[in-house]
Order: sequence, then C-alpha cells, then structure tokens
Amino acid sequence: MSHEPISSGDINPRDVLDIDALLDDEERLLRDTVRSFVADRVLPHVADWFEAGTFPREMATEMGALGLLGMHLEGYGCAGTSAVAYGLACLELEAGDSGTRSFVSVQGSLAMYPIWAFGSEQQKLEWLPRMATGDALGCFGLTEADSGSDPSSMRTHARSDGPDWVINGTKMWITNGGIADVAIVWAQTDDGVRGFVVPTDTPGFTANNIPRKLSLRASVTSELVLEDVRLPGDAVLAGVVGLKGPLACLNEARFGILFGAVGAARACYESALDYAGERKQFGVPIASFQLTQSKLVEMMVQVNRAMLLALHIGRMKDAGSVRAEHISLGKFDNVRMALDVARSARSVLGANGITLEYPVMRHMNNLETVSTYEGTNEIHTLILGQAITGISAFN
Ligand SMILES: Cc1cc2nc3c(=O)[nH]c(=O)nc-3n(C[C@H](O)[C@H](O)[C@H](O)COP(=O)(O)OP(=O)(O)OC[C@H]3O[C@@H](n4cnc5c(N)ncnc54)[C@H](O)[C@@H]3O)c2cc1C
Repeated sequence: MSHEPISSGDINPRDVLDIDALLDDEERLLRDTVRSFVADRVLPHVADWFEAGTFPREMATEMGALGLLGMHLEGYGCAGTSAVAYGLACLELEAGDSGTRSFVSVQGSLAMYPIWAFGSEQQKLEWLPRMATGDALGCFGLTEADSGSDPSSMRTHARSDGPDWVINGTKMWITNGGIADVAIVWAQTDDGVRGFVVPTDTPGFTANNIPRKLSLRASVTSELVLEDVRLPGDAVLAGVVGLKGPLACLNEARFGILFGAVGAARACYESALDYAGERKQFGVPIASFQLTQSKLVEMMVQVNRAMLLALHIGRMKDAGSVRAEHISLGKFDNVRMALDVARSARSVLGANGITLEYPVMRHMNNLETVSTYEGTNEIHTLILGQAITGISAFN
C-alpha cells in the first residue's frame, strides 16, 4: 500500500482540481489564445452589444482569422482541430457571452457542417473557404413558429419544378438569419425532409430580425420567409434524406454547448468570488460569511464537475466512441448547472448583480435561451429516458 504525502501546494481557486493538467500543450495554447481574444475583443464591448441588441459583423472575420469558424472540420480552409480543442474554444467564447459562442456554433456546426458532411464538391468549394474566413456567413433554418421540439411537423415545403426546386415556408428563431449570406433550409419534399443551400439574395427570400428579446441579445435572431424561392436542382444537400440530416448538425452544435455552458458558469463563479472578496458588509468582506462561502463552494464544485464531464465527452468524441445520448447528457446537465450557478452568483452580487456592469445577469438571461435551443431540457430528458428504459415517452 502506498502512502504518498498529500500535496501541500496552494489550491488555485480558479482551477481547484488542476484540470489544466489534463490538457495537452496544443489544447492549452488554443484555450489561451481564445481567452485573450475574448478578453481583448469581446468583454470590453459585450455589455454595449447586449444593450443595443447587436452582434457586430466584423467579429466574424476576426474569428475567422483565428481559425475558429468550422475549426473542427477538415480541408476547405478549415483548421481541422480535435473535438476537445473545439470544445475549449466554445468554453472560452461563452465565458465572454453565449451570443459569441452561438455565432461560432451556428457558423461552424449548423451551416458549414451540413455542407461539409452532405454537400457536393461544388457546394463545398463555393462556400466553405469563404465561411472559414468569416467573409460569408451562414444560418440554419429548422424551427418554425408551430414546429419547435417536433421538427417532423415542419410545413416548409420544396417541390421540384422541371430542373429546379421551389421552396415556400417560414422559419422562426434563426440565429444569424439577418446577417447570413447563405441559409441551410430544411424542408419537406416528396421524399422526406431535405436540406437546401439557399443564397440569401435569391428572389423571394427575406429575413426579418426578431426584436425585444430579453436573452441572447448580443446575437441576431430572425424569421426567414421563403416565397416561391426558385433554386437550381443542385441546391439540395444530396448526401442526406430525412431528419437524421438536421439532427446530425444539432449533435455537433450541442457538443459545443456542453463545453460553452461551463464557460458561462465559470465567468459567473469568478465574478461572485471576486466580488465577495471585495464587498464589505458588517465591517468584513461578504466572503467571510459562512452562507456566502457555501454558495461559492457549491458553484466551484458544480463548475469543476461540469468541466470534467465536458472533457470526458470530448475525449470520447475524439476517440470515436461518443453517442448522441452522451451529448444529450452533457447538454442537459451542464446547461442546468450553468443556470444554477448564474442564479446563485447573482444573489452574491446583490443589487449590483442586476446590472450590465457585471456579467452575471447577462449570462443568466442568455442561459435561458441556451437551455431552450438545441433541444430543451425536457427533450434531452426524454432522449436519456428512452436510452435507459428502452421506452419512448415522446408522445
Ligand atoms: C435565441 C434563439 C435562437 C435560436 N436559434 C435557432 C436556429 O439558429 N435555428 C433553428 O432552427 N432554431 C433556433 N432556435 C429555436 C429553438 O431550437 C427552439 O426554440 C426549440 O427547439 C424549442 O422549440 P419551441 O420554442 O417551439 O418550444 P416547444 O417545442 O413549443 O416547447 C415548449 C415547451 O414544451 C416542452 N415540450 C415539447 N415537447 C415535449 C414533450 N414531448 N414532452 C415534454 N415536454 C415537451 C418543451 O420542452 C418546452 O418546455 C432558437 C431559439 C432561440 C430562443
């Protein structure tokens, strides 16, 4: 039996379990690069973007120059990184703002990925290199006003007309819709659901931005209207038929979210930790109250546990052993963890916690969206319930 001494070194409150040691040099370098980008280019401005309800388009080319767009894809100007590296980038971006991470998730996992996985060589060559640099932006149109958790009920329809396709329908809640150059639109056809690559300057296509959001404000969310949009026969994504196409894309994006949520939670925990050390009441820092310490410890444990979960699922993805259910588990648990941490951090900040001077309530509001999109917590519960019981409880 070995009796190794317990290390006497100091605990780092920002990485209590020394998870940093589980990353390799390349992963740490990428993480540090994205962290500095967020510190320099996102954090100084994001409160203003959030207040104004905008996402500046020029951020796209800056993120493209860093290799963050479609970064986990191979070829066509994409960086071809590991899944863990992609996850760590999402984590650092979401520590800035869920809107920034959403931009990257939509561009890489929901717009570039379907072209990369299911598109023709011509579609890949036309779009992917420009999308990797951020010169062309993409969006992903699956949800409709009456078709959310159940995309099989979508009404958008594409019919063939001679050599062409003609699409009619309306998509709702589409991230990047109003700034996109190309929309991946999923529509019913006589053969089942199919994906179409729709340049947004095609006659009959309009995007209307959705105003008055209280969540994910530093992100463009739009309605897409397609009225007799006529496209050439080769605009279809030939490599997939049926809902497995959009679901494969969602899996890619959900993977980014299960890391990203850790970033939002970490930002809230660190903000509460710093604040509790500085803010004095009853003549002492509020960090000296047992009740505050209890909140901080709970947050720290939750963030560390979620990070280990994300890293584990990331390593499974890189090893080729991850299943959609594993990604559901990560998305489900890490997003609810982040919401819990954000709410607790908000209480530590007292009145200051409700302002944009601190990141906490912005993250908290954003996380309401993150918990709804890419499969609500209820839908992921049903996916996992089916996985462990063998019984579908979807309807
Ligand atoms: C800011 C934002 C950005 C988005 N970006 C995109 C995008 O880029 N592209 C895109 O296609 N979509 C996008 N979405 C849409 C998002 O994916 C949907 O909102 C989501 O799928 C849920 O659909 P819904 O809002 O219609 O809710 P509904 O499906 O109507 O669900 C309402 C409630 O009922 C519950 N529910 C539904 N079915 C069941 C069931 N079988 N059992 C138990 N409970 C159930 C849900 O969990 C939820 O709590 C975005 C949404 C937001 C808010």
